Amino acid sequence: MYDTIIIGAGPAGMTAALYAGRSNLKVALLERGIYGGQMQNTADIENYPGYANISGPELSEKMFEPLEKFGVDHLFGQVLRVETDGPVKKVITEDETLETKSIVLAMGAKHRLLGIPGEAEYNSRGVSYCAVCDGAFFRDQDLLVVGGGDSAVEEAAFLTQFAKSVTIVHRRDKLRAQQVLQDRAFANEKINFIWDSVVEEIKGDDRKVQSVVLKNVQTGEVSEHAFGGVFIYVGLDPMTDSVADLGITDEAGWIVTNDLMETSQAGVFAAGDIRQKYLRQVTTAVGDGAMAGQQVYNYLTALEG
Ligand code: FAD
Ligand code: NAP
Repeated sequence: MYDTIIIGAGPAGMTAALYAGRSNLKVALLERGIYGGQMQNTADIENYPGYANISGPELSEKMFEPLEKFGVDHLFGQVLRVETDGPVKKVITEDETLETKSIVLAMGAKHRLLGIPGEAEYNSRGVSYCAVCDGAFFRDQDLLVVGGGDSAVEEAAFLTQFAKSVTIVHRRDKLRAQQVLQDRAFANEKINFIWDSVVEEIKGDDRKVQSVVLKNVQTGEVSEHAFGGVFIYVGLDPMTDSVADLGITDEAGWIVTNDLMETSQAGVFAAGDIRQKYLRQVTTAVGDGAMAGQQVYNYLTALEG
């Protein structure tokens, strides 16, 4: 029986594990892939205090390293379901059922799909959701980036080191991204913009993407443009399928907590991007994780009198 099982080894989960582990609790950090979460898909992080610039994989390594010292068990598995009735809670993976006194949900978020014709068909054949993973395959090509948030603008800049040109298509005439990222993108000669437009279809031959069909939402005009690759960054959806029946999410699926990271279920905490929150960043995930790890200790101390 674990004192706590933390589901998801992104920055939120790893920090919760650090705090709970340092409190001498019996902790399992359960992850279905590699530790680091979304940081593994990020080339440069320059808004994490203490580092002028650090790559996502390197920061992931630095966060994971100390956990062993505090006796955190690193388990591999995809959580399918959790049962939270009563003092003994169950975490059910594809292979086993684990028992625990408390749970920290830190499963983060996943990229959203556009849901247009050609997107699924050309996935990994010109359609990508990860510039860091796939950018180098697109040397000297004209690329399209879809979206106007931090991810779209930052990853468009990353792609310019490989691409001949990068065009950002956004559905409005103003970007949502942080000003510093916008300023850099506007100053980058390789980056072009198409405003007020949405992608209606991604087209290609039997091998890979060749073009996209765009629609101007102001004029209704439809046009076709040649691109060798399409990188889609249109936001995130919460990874809450495995806890959907617990009654702890809002209408969009984000988990609702108070400032102590407590959900409406006793002994069930949530941290990081999976929460209903304003700013989804590594720093805020780490802050949530610290609070959740500490609150697990407080919860168990109170439980055991
Ligand atoms: P995640 O990082 O999403 O980690 C969740 C983990 O849970 C994953 O490892 C996942 O595999 C695991 N998981 C999910 N479901 C299950 C399950 N059922 N069973 C087991 N494991 C599961 N933030 C910054 O501060 N600076 C940046 O420069 C920056 N750049 C970014 C660039 C991109 C392209 C993206 C996508 C995001 C970027 N962010 C950046 C945001 C930042 O990465 C996230 O806010 C942060 O990673 C959230 O951490 P998290 O631990 O809450 O979740
Ligand atoms: P986001 O901030 O939600 O932005 C999504 C963008 O996609 C928005 O511009 C949105 O348009 C657009 N969009 C949404 N649905 C669309 C659709 N169906 N068709 C066309 N466009 C659509 O998501 P994100 O950029 O992935 O960022 C997610 C989180 O990670 C944020 O909290 C962000 O701050 C963080 N992040 C931080 C950094 C950093 O700090 N350097 C880098 C990357 C990500 P509208 O603007 O019109 O809504």
